[in-house]
Amino acid sequence: MFILLAFSPPALIAQLDRALGYGPRGWGFESSWAHQKREVIVITEDERWMKLALQEAELAFQEGEIPVGAIAVREGRVAGRGHNQVETLNDPTAHAEIIALGAAATSLQSWRLCDCDLYVTLEPCPMCAGATVTARLRRLVFGAFNPQEGACGSLWNIVQDQRLEHQIELTSGVLKRECETILKSFFAKLRETKERCLSG
Ligand SMILES: [Zn+2]
Repeated sequence: MFILLAFSPPALIAQLDRALGYGPRGWGFESSWAHQKREVIVITEDERWMKLALQEAELAFQEGEIPVGAIAVREGRVAGRGHNQVETLNDPTAHAEIIALGAAATSLQSWRLCDCDLYVTLEPCPMCAGATVTARLRRLVFGAFNPQEGACGSLWNIVQDQRLEHQIELTSGVLKRECETILKSFFAKLRETKERCLSG
């Protein structure tokens, strides 16, 4: 499915006030702002959910956590959301994916998330990839690749390992550049702070 959006989402997402109708590529919308400016962009359904995951990553950034965000989606609605909170909770398992899966299981009152999809800004680590398999997730979508510990294609592909009972449909690289940028900004800021501390 594709959606037409004005520039500078998410601020303008709220202004999707003119439905263009159902076309061959799905539902289209146009904001009043976009109508005036005659400028529209097309984003896919995956990109739309990934933008919400990026908002979660931004919350992690603001809390001084490695900025990773995740959104669990069921039947077109958010079932759970989470961002990395390892430092805040002092919990090595408090990754964005684990928190989002837990929130979805609580809201749906079922640990089996076989009709849920998970959108995450960074390729999951082995722990999180294992959790998605355990949850019987339907589909996993991630943004940036994780060459250090990625377990969905980079170092391993746990979510599609045929030796396991359950395999998950996988899509990678959705809004890859935005997902990489927030991580790079975080680590650049961290380096800058450390250098300032050392020089001071
Ligand atoms: Zn993880």
